[in-house]
Amino acid sequence: MSEQKAAQDLIIDCHGHYTTAPDALGEYRDQQKADLKTDELFAHVKGIIDISDEQLRDSVEGAQLKLQNERGSDVTIFSPRASWMGHHIGNQSTSKYWTEHCNELIYRLTELYPQNFIGGAQLPQSPGADMSASAAELERCVTEYGFVGCNLSPDPSGGHWTAPRLDDRYWYPIYEKMCELNVPAMIHVSASCHQCFDTTGSHYLGADTTAFQHLMMAKTLFKDFPKLKLIIPHGGGAVPYHWGRFRGLADMMKLDNLNDIIRDHIYFDTCVYHQEGIDLLVDVIPTENILFASEMVGAVRGIDPQTGHYFDDTKRYIDACQLSAAQKQQVFSANARKVFPRLDARLKEVGLL
Ligand SMILES: [Zn+2]
Repeated sequence: MSEQKAAQDLIIDCHGHYTTAPDALGEYRDQQKADLKTDELFAHVKGIIDISDEQLRDSVEGAQLKLQNERGSDVTIFSPRASWMGHHIGNQSTSKYWTEHCNELIYRLTELYPQNFIGGAQLPQSPGADMSASAAELERCVTEYGFVGCNLSPDPSGGHWTAPRLDDRYWYPIYEKMCELNVPAMIHVSASCHQCFDTTGSHYLGADTTAFQHLMMAKTLFKDFPKLKLIIPHGGGAVPYHWGRFRGLADMMKLDNLNDIIRDHIYFDTCVYHQEGIDLLVDVIPTENILFASEMVGAVRGIDPQTGHYFDDTKRYIDACQLSAAQKQQVFSANARKVFPRLDARLKEVGLL
């Protein structure tokens, strides 16, 4: 048990994925894909994935846990591997069982390491399917497993953008469930199956930018859901860098001031992998709307030859940025505890508060 810190001193990483799962998880997925080759409407059964607690421990101790320790973050909101969500693969039953297994592995890790990992859910989205299965899985993860958030893909087609815009009523069942359960969503795409988009580069960042514009232009979404909170990952894609363009567009479209639009609803994480990018993010976006995150172990795993440090060691950039000590505490702790309303109760339950 780590020694207890004051709430404002906790370093909460709101964006981490289980990218180091044992091979049995990938083998399960390969079998699903093989079944789909015989029939794209193949009705899967859930089956079992045989992974021991020992294997789960081995999979994170030299990776996410080691890096938490070395870099000095306390707890990570931990969700299944984003690029493997693969909502475009197969049908609703494919996504349902795959997602249940992925979330159950996260749950087991949160039980093995309750002070290091708090669950974030994958959703069993599927192109053309309504959001009812996703709402049901979110409820299961929050009420049975103690998860505090979820990842919602704006594009379950994997790069073809066939779903409606994010303010369309298509999404309302999941927003209703999120508000009922008091959990936010990170708007996070999965792998690209479009030959023009590369998953962790242009597809992720393009989706972040696209999602922001949908939300910025949403006419009634935040009136219909006053409690709805959405996090745009990867520093908001191109949005902070082009804040002037978005402000200008908002002005031309006679929208409200962007800071007013985002204040209680739209947040940006700090998965930006160089100092200059973080400096710009914290300069442009109100501190209240920035949440600390690293997305480790994730898309970019190497060491920056210019600094000698890992690109995704984002705590360094926050430590070095121009924010005051009080503002840094907001980014590291207070903002996450506000945006994830169930977080405090979970932190208390596991002895971190
Ligand atoms: Zn991610």
